[in-house]
Amino acid sequence: MQQLLPGLWKIDEIGEAVHCYLWEWAGGLTLIDTGMPATAPKIIEALLKQGYALHNVRRIIITHADIDHTGGLAHIQKVTGAKVACHVVEKELLEHPNRRQPVWYLRPLFGAVVALSRNFQVQPVTPDELLVDGQELPEGFTVVHTPGHTPGHISLLHKAKRFLIAGDVLANRKDKLSGPAPLFTPDMKNAQRSIWKLAKKYGDDFDAVVFGHGTPLLQNGDKRIKALASQIFSADV
Ligand SMILES: [Zn+2]
Repeated sequence: MQQLLPGLWKIDEIGEAVHCYLWEWAGGLTLIDTGMPATAPKIIEALLKQGYALHNVRRIIITHADIDHTGGLAHIQKVTGAKVACHVVEKELLEHPNRRQPVWYLRPLFGAVVALSRNFQVQPVTPDELLVDGQELPEGFTVVHTPGHTPGHISLLHKAKRFLIAGDVLANRKDKLSGPAPLFTPDMKNAQRSIWKLAKKYGDDFDAVVFGHGTPLLQNGDKRIKALASQIFSADV
């Protein structure tokens, strides 16, 4: 595990294709996202290797119900006994993973891949807690509903510690900040509005930003997001 900020860890044992995070706070451990189905044992191993008791993982917060973020959820929930939380709108996709589809023109292909490959099968999970926009969580997070990539996508903002867990509303691949992958973002207009929301409404509340995909920005993340929002909307934020 790689410590990014005091209390915030990136579980890099699962590789660099997708990231999940561990937040260590006074109430225990909170896992944010769970990687692909096959990497769940690596997350468990990483926690144990770090000396954490599995029952101290009290909650798993899912930013959105894509296979690379919820793949390990059923397994990790079972092993840790953690409560699972997601946005109220994302509940349907957590309970019915096959309803999540990419943009319309890839759907036939996507269906075939899912049918053929066990690596693309996600076990359904019923969330214990449903979150809404603006909700304050005991971990110190403010829930920010950032739809577009999926309807119930959320980002988690820690105002006191000044960091943002963006999820897939943004990515920072090869140090290039961008919106979510178009092929897997059925509502790009809304995704762009979500970037605007982060910049305009919360842009003064964080410095560091970590992503589902790409390198964390530990400084000036706010400025980078404001610049991207300005570029998308051709207006100053
Ligand atoms: Zn992703």
